[in-house]
Amino acid sequence: MPPQPTSSFAKVTQPRRCDLLVVGAGPAGTAAAISAQDRGLHVEVVDRATFPRDKTCGDGLTTAALRHLERLGVPRSSLAGIVPVHETVLVSPSGRRVTLSFPDNGLYAGVIAREELDAVLVEFARSRGVVVHEGAPVVNVTNEAARVTVSCADGSHFEASWVVAADGNYSTVRRILEPTGERRLGTSHAFRQYFHGVDDPRLWVVFEPDLLPGYAWVFPLPGGRANVGFGVRRTSATSGKQLNALWRDLMRRPSIREILGAGEPEGAPRAWPIPGDLDAAALSDGRILYVGDAAGTVDPLTGEGIAQAIETGILAAHSVADSVADAAAVDGSPTDVAERYERAVGAALRSDARMATAVQRVLSSPLLARAALRAVDSTEWTRRNFARWMFEDYPRALLVTPRRWHRGALSGAGAYRT
Ligand SMILES: Cc1cc2nc3c(=O)[nH]c(=O)nc-3n(C[C@H](O)[C@H](O)[C@H](O)COP(=O)(O)OP(=O)(O)OC[C@H]3O[C@@H](n4cnc5c(N)ncnc54)[C@H](O)[C@@H]3O)c2cc1C
Repeated sequence: MPPQPTSSFAKVTQPRRCDLLVVGAGPAGTAAAISAQDRGLHVEVVDRATFPRDKTCGDGLTTAALRHLERLGVPRSSLAGIVPVHETVLVSPSGRRVTLSFPDNGLYAGVIAREELDAVLVEFARSRGVVVHEGAPVVNVTNEAARVTVSCADGSHFEASWVVAADGNYSTVRRILEPTGERRLGTSHAFRQYFHGVDDPRLWVVFEPDLLPGYAWVFPLPGGRANVGFGVRRTSATSGKQLNALWRDLMRRPSIREILGAGEPEGAPRAWPIPGDLDAAALSDGRILYVGDAAGTVDPLTGEGIAQAIETGILAAHSVADSVADAAAVDGSPTDVAERYERAVGAALRSDARMATAVQRVLSSPLLARAALRAVDSTEWTRRNFARWMFEDYPRALLVTPRRWHRGALSGAGAYRT
């Protein structure tokens, strides 16, 4: 029998009232919900899916993502299916292989299927007191001066003081509130397919000349499985047909076949957009705050977006909770939530996003990409620090943001140190 949705909406007739309604229970939404609940707000979450559910992703967790999960309180023991990554291999457009190792001081990178990670986050949110409704697609949103009303497909509805829209790249909330806005197709487009019979614990990043500044990947999963995919920058000329042909061609290339060995694909490949355009869309609209992919927060250089999703979720929750606390202290109603949130996201992500875009331009040229990888491979120090920079141990723009320089900035421990 297929799993039954755990939503009880069919029985609900009155609007459910809460301080914060979160739309979407991916990494951004669950991080927002857990953080707001921890700050004493009454939080409810709706997601159209029933968990566990798949999400088209490379399944890679950077140091920043792992540290955020640890800070949220997610126990290491609940991430049973994570493969800790100790070594990553970069393949230059010339075919040169550069092997980078991570320190032993905690987890700096890991791979865990999103089907598992997101279900763990939903259960963890519930264990902290968050009410999560599954199988509940949002179909209508009314953004009023004093509250937001949100309706789901079965006609049930919520009244919330604030809404965090964590509903991904195609954000339904944004489409309802900006009906004439452009359909967001992402700055990059990516394919992913699972393979089995690939027995290699290393994480591979392959810079094929025609994918630049994008790349192909083979990420290790438990039991000899692997997450295999590629991402390329989207241009107006990119068609789905071309991307499909590119995928089939890539899977035949020696640079990828050598890594996959006797590995066999499981099911069909899946494609999904990657939104790395933080400056392009509004971060808030009245009492609604956009987080994660709904806000275009993915790192445009690597396509990694889980850390940014969690971080913006946390920032949104704290912006609401701080404003509520300040207003209570002066007996007023909180007014500056959106402003606080926009400031916080700007400080946390904007310079890194711009730096990533600048480096992406350099990596567009095969010649420069080869030179960059030669430079990375020149000493033990460059190899170690490049690995840690690439996997978001340091903020992308650390070198040009002196306010973030501090002792130990280049030698922080990984997450979940025992
Ligand atoms: C192929 C590919 C590979 C990637 N690889 C990596 C990687 O290795 N590492 C990394 O860090 N990032 C990676 N990313 C990016 C990463 O997947 C996203 O940045 C991340 O999932 C964003 O999280 P989110 O919570 O904002 O959105 P999502 O994970 O998309 O979650 C959105 C949630 O909203 C729900 N929802 C949508 N519409 C509605 C609605 N109408 N009503 C209710 N709920 C709704 C969905 O069901 C979903 O649960 C990759 C992306 C792609 C496409």
